[in-house]
Amino acid sequence: MTPSDCIFCKIVAGEIPARIVARTDSALAFHDLNPQAPHHVLVIPTRHFGGAASVGSEATDVWAPLMSLATEVARKLELDEKGYRLVLNQGADGGQSVGHLHVHLLGGRRMSWPPG
Ligand code: 5GP
Ligand code: ZN
Repeated sequence: MTPSDCIFCKIVAGEIPARIVARTDSALAFHDLNPQAPHHVLVIPTRHFGGAASVGSEATDVWAPLMSLATEVARKLELDEKGYRLVLNQGADGGQSVGHLHVHLLGGRRMSWPPG
């Protein structure tokens, strides 16, 4: 998938609507369209990467702001005390359905382990 037909790139560009939670120069957090928990936020790099496996030499520039924003949003949603889950699906076996790197922030209910 190229950035021109990537739905998350379109959300970054404001071309399709999303319920934005937080934004930095390099990362964006918005509510998932199909929430799997009372709080379900997607945190993405503003720059297009197909997934975790597509991040190469830029690793520090990508992961630090992405994970920082994910934990900041969790704090903003007052999830620190009760806890939350961060999930990253990579590729077919990982269950990835959107080809733009994203971290799921899930909270507000007790999570089970292992996932299905
Ligand atoms: P994946 O399965 O790739 O890890 O997760 C993709 C997530 O993106 C799913 O949880 C799905 O509900 C969400 N999603 C797909 N399309 C849209 C959209 O257009 N807007 C928003 N806000 N979420 C989306
Ligand atoms: Zn994209």
